[in-house]
Amino acid sequence: MPTFADKISFCIMLLKGKEIANQIKEEIAVEVEKITSKGHRAPHLVAILVGEDGASKTYVKNKELACQKVGFTSTLVRLPETTTEEELLTKIQDINNDDSIDGLIVQLPLPKHISENNVTQAIDPAKDVDGFHDVSVGKLTKGQDTFISATPYGIVQLLDRYDIETKGKHCVVVGRSNIVGRPMSILMSSSGKRGNCTVTICHRHTEDLQRYTTMADILIVAVGIPEFIKGDMIKDGATVIDVGITRVDADTPKGYVLKGDVEFESAEKVAGYITPVPGGVGPMTIIGLMQNTLKSHQNKFNS
Ligand code: NAP
Repeated sequence: MPTFADKISFCIMLLKGKEIANQIKEEIAVEVEKITSKGHRAPHLVAILVGEDGASKTYVKNKELACQKVGFTSTLVRLPETTTEEELLTKIQDINNDDSIDGLIVQLPLPKHISENNVTQAIDPAKDVDGFHDVSVGKLTKGQDTFISATPYGIVQLLDRYDIETKGKHCVVVGRSNIVGRPMSILMSSSGKRGNCTVTICHRHTEDLQRYTTMADILIVAVGIPEFIKGDMIKDGATVIDVGITRVDADTPKGYVLKGDVEFESAEKVAGYITPVPGGVGPMTIIGLMQNTLKSHQNKFNS
């Protein structure tokens, strides 16, 4: 049975992405108000969704709702599963050429017959608010101003809002995907406000993973395997950022529950701070996207 003190510390250690995201949405809404009061149009985000993937539909819906909340214009382009790569690339070109649009995202994953790389690289870097284009990634790597991939951007801001010191800390990132793990490792090692870490990046060929994870002051996990990291893989007092979100079959009204990559029950006993799933990194990812869209609009109108 947890004591009262346990419950208090439990409340303190949660990194509540959802709450921080709501605060930042209000801040963005104020900026949008300023923009429109100057006579400019509101920032406009377009999302393309190909096919009927249930999780993707939910993610896109959440992005649309966030746009409404902050006062952006949002457009959802729904395309059937049978869409060819050529048709999708043509649609992207049309959007690239449309001056009334600031940001374009194509929800991943795409059907297998479409190259994600070709699609990502077809987006105008000036509208690449997901930060997946080679130009964005290259600039990020060189520490230049750019659109930062939304999830790592959101995580850095979460650390910032909770005033978690990163300078000189050892950050271990588990997972090296192009959209999360790799850009995350670059950001944490960069000289930005919440960077300056010494970074270790782990993947499926890492030998003795636990040896590295238990050395982490900040442990960021993005592997997509539910409850992969257990409490005994975490250093006492570490900050744990759980990026994973997987639908696991369960006897619930929806037929599933959402699980992170970290086993929360054992991890919260050792971690200093930890993100919940859901309600941790997910809402902050949407914030990263909203901020990138606002930035794109500001780049255009210098507003
Ligand atoms: P991904 O592209 O599948 O990459 C997974 C990474 O995990 C790979 O680098 C892989 O290593 C590594 N990995 C797999 N098994 C491992 C093992 N046994 N030991 C160590 N590393 C291992 O996934 P992703 O796109 O980064 O996404 C990861 C998770 O985050 C998913 O659950 C996804 O749904 C979630 N996600 C959440 C958000 C959010 O907003 N909350 C955003 C994006 C993603 P190799 O490179 O060696 O294969």
